[in-house]
Amino acid sequence: MKSKIWLSSPHMSGTELNYIHQAFDSNWIAPLGPNVDLFEEKIQNFLGNNHYASVLSSGTAAIHLALIILGVKKGDEVICQSKTFSASANPIIYQGAIPIFIDSEEDTWNLCPELLEKAIKDSIAKGKKPKAIIAVHLYGMPYKVKEISAIAENYQIPIIEDSAEALGSSYHNQKCGTFGDIGILSFNGNKIITTSGGGALITKEKSVKEKAVFLATQARDKGIAYLHSSIGYNYRMSNVLAGIGVGQMDVLKERVHSRRHNFQFYKSHLSDIDDLFFLPEPENNFSNRWLSCILTKSKQQKEDIIELLSIENIESRPLWKPMHQQPVFKDYPCYLNGVSDNLFERGICLPSGSNLSENDLLRVISAIKQYYHV
Ligand SMILES: *Cc1c(COP(=O)(O)O)cnc(C)c1O
Repeated sequence: MKSKIWLSSPHMSGTELNYIHQAFDSNWIAPLGPNVDLFEEKIQNFLGNNHYASVLSSGTAAIHLALIILGVKKGDEVICQSKTFSASANPIIYQGAIPIFIDSEEDTWNLCPELLEKAIKDSIAKGKKPKAIIAVHLYGMPYKVKEISAIAENYQIPIIEDSAEALGSSYHNQKCGTFGDIGILSFNGNKIITTSGGGALITKEKSVKEKAVFLATQARDKGIAYLHSSIGYNYRMSNVLAGIGVGQMDVLKERVHSRRHNFQFYKSHLSDIDDLFFLPEPENNFSNRWLSCILTKSKQQKEDIIELLSIENIESRPLWKPMHQQPVFKDYPCYLNGVSDNLFERGICLPSGSNLSENDLLRVISAIKQYYHV
């Protein structure tokens, strides 16, 4: 059996263990401590523009806290990109709110501005303005920031920028994670850098960071007594795991470089095949190419190639199944144009880890070439 090629596996730099040892040596085995502070500082320095980061137990927890901080309550409506991972949408349900799913446009595969505006107008006409918009930079490709921000601004609806897949991406030279009223990062094991599990909430306002940390640490009011005047959560990141994050931040730029290289390598070897399409980077967009995706000609081709790769012990996956197609979300309102259904039908995520060797990439390429007889 040939060795397994994973879709997107963790890639340590080697320095992470030093920070973990420091946590052990100083006995900061807790959801606070020097690594937590240092990790936040490194994220802030990377993002620039005076943003604050609060590191949390997951990206999902960050989205949940963002909704709470923006005042989303039971029965409120929240707009969410349909083509995404379910973690973008699940926290809407945690709050008892109602998701409204919006389809994608073809240039970035993200939130379609026209449908977004239509949904907002319809909601307002019914006397209920959506409380927030969850916009996603799918696979690291920035959404149409200018258009989406203008709509949000016009109707005065805050944006939760789900940048879980887009750390290291940028738009007009500004880093993803810094465009929304609140930004979200994920450090899950499959993401561009990882703490095994973790996330962050990004904000321009110090008070929002303080609120996030307060809610993430059981909402204990100031003072020595355990006084609680709001419901809290246990969402803070462990100081041990933050040590992994500190070591990972030091190699983030290299990781982005490797992922972009994977995409270019696949493209240069496969773009002669007429049945395959690679999403170009629109002008002024810089994608971290978290996952290298291809579109095939048909559902059949997609299924055949995933199967063929699996026989070669190569992990690949369809693109995210849109939320409006999910059994758990299918009865919620949605605004569709066919784009995300079509992407799901034809798209494949190829192995994309920053730790793949050229030989690994060539194994993937040769299996696909074999399928197309080229
Ligand atoms: C991974 C991911 C999340 C959730 O992050 P976790 O850290 O796994 O909770 C949210 N949104 C998107 C688009 C993701 O890919």
